[in-house]
Amino acid sequence: MKTDVVIVGGGPAGTASAMFLAREGIKSVIVEQEKFPRYHIGESLTGGGGQVVRQLGLEAEMYKRKYPCKQGVKVYGQSKAGSWFVPVTGRDADWKLFPWDTWQVRRSDFDKMMLDEAVARGSTLIPGKALKPILKKDGSVGGVQIRPMDSEKTMEIEADVLLDCSGQATWLANLGGLTGPKYLGSYDKQIAIFSQVVGTIRDDGATRDQHKANTLILYASKFHWAWFIPLDEDVVSVGIVVPSAYFLEKKESLRDFYIRELHEIHPELKRRIPEIKLVESVHVIPNYSFQVKKFCGKGFICVGDAHRFVDPIFSFGMTMAMWEGQLAAPHIKSYLSGERRDQPNPFADHQLYCEKGIDVLEDLIDCFWEQPLAFALLVYTRYTDFITDMFATRIYDHQPSPALDAFRKLLNREGLREKSYETEDLYSVPIGARFHPERAAIWETNSPVQSTEDWLGPR
Ligand SMILES: Cc1cc2nc3c(=O)[nH]c(=O)nc-3n(C[C@H](O)[C@H](O)[C@H](O)COP(=O)(O)OP(=O)(O)OC[C@H]3O[C@@H](n4cnc5c(N)ncnc54)[C@H](O)[C@@H]3O)c2cc1C
Repeated sequence: MKTDVVIVGGGPAGTASAMFLAREGIKSVIVEQEKFPRYHIGESLTGGGGQVVRQLGLEAEMYKRKYPCKQGVKVYGQSKAGSWFVPVTGRDADWKLFPWDTWQVRRSDFDKMMLDEAVARGSTLIPGKALKPILKKDGSVGGVQIRPMDSEKTMEIEADVLLDCSGQATWLANLGGLTGPKYLGSYDKQIAIFSQVVGTIRDDGATRDQHKANTLILYASKFHWAWFIPLDEDVVSVGIVVPSAYFLEKKESLRDFYIRELHEIHPELKRRIPEIKLVESVHVIPNYSFQVKKFCGKGFICVGDAHRFVDPIFSFGMTMAMWEGQLAAPHIKSYLSGERRDQPNPFADHQLYCEKGIDVLEDLIDCFWEQPLAFALLVYTRYTDFITDMFATRIYDHQPSPALDAFRKLLNREGLREKSYETEDLYSVPIGARFHPERAAIWETNSPVQSTEDWLGPR
């Protein structure tokens, strides 16, 4: 089988990539190993995520499906002074701010909608598992070998470009050879435990900060927090995130730990969930923070989680995944037309652009964790508009903003990012390596700790 671009993974990165490629007249094949609909975490879109969905022409469909409209994020700190609200905003053509909506999505439904839409727009879906990339004589990628679902035989898909959109599986990086190494990120020692609850107390006021579908973040202490994300009129996704060591100390089952924490981690969460009724299994993801260096090369690009995930606190993941798909499309178009074929990394510009964008988010997140009170003060008193830009994932244009400069100053990182971009080899070395040398361990490709079960052991 032959196509222009083969895409490994049919999550938001894969399907958005396929749809933006289709706009450029480029054919694609999506290889997805799971049967959709399937459960997935990551249910809150930022303003930028809503923007990409709108750019894909899916706004009417989002309203039709009655996904809850999110108007902002409310953070409850340890005190009133540490509590704050960031509205969802957009920027018009003159870069003027306006109040906007985005959505909370049940991923089983949203991802299926995106996959169906990608297929309706011309992409071919092949259910199956990608096994390994096929290399041409000159070392560039020429396709992928897969095992179609329910088949013993393998199959080859020839394509001039391979997109790795495999999410946290980081398929290409784990195979080794093509990408750079995979490093642990700054939040690798965290664990997220989550489910869905009903019968909660939701805001229902007229103001944007009292909107009933807003995301709530409950900050208990450094690295101990919870999310509250409404999924429909009744069901709310609630996650508890803590250091893994704290979870292990408790010696509880996942479910017992989760249920106890729902009423212990933060008084506001207890007030919101008077009686605990779960309507979903309890899920867990440890060690979610990582970064793959050199995630683009001759004939391949890793998109979304397949190369980097920092921390789920402000819901940037899905937006980044879809946005990077959009950003990659024009680069792929020119590569397919023969440009930059002789270069060692034909997608180097795209790679640097993406890294700089995520670095903005990483600095925002690091500042929140390292300086929570100063952060809250900056949100309310000095740089509110610039900070709503970052929360909406407007991280490529008009950056570094005065707010980002202030965060970098608070983190003692002034000039460090810019300096690191000057040398291709150095830029975006993960903060975990550059700023915390004791945690500079490279994630061994063949580490025995590959799955949640490996990590948690039998329970
Ligand atoms: C605890 C937690 C909470 C989060 N909360 C949010 C949130 O509120 N909002 C938000 O935007 N983001 C959130 N995220 C991040 C979000 O889940 C991801 O950023 C997002 O799903 C990335 O999309 P993706 O398409 O890159 O990967 P995925 O959505 O993971 O899709 C990857 C797909 O690739 C397939 N695949 C993998 N390997 C292969 C293979 N070899 N062959 C074929 N198919 C393969 C998988 O089956 C999967 O369907 C959260 C993450 C965590 C860990």
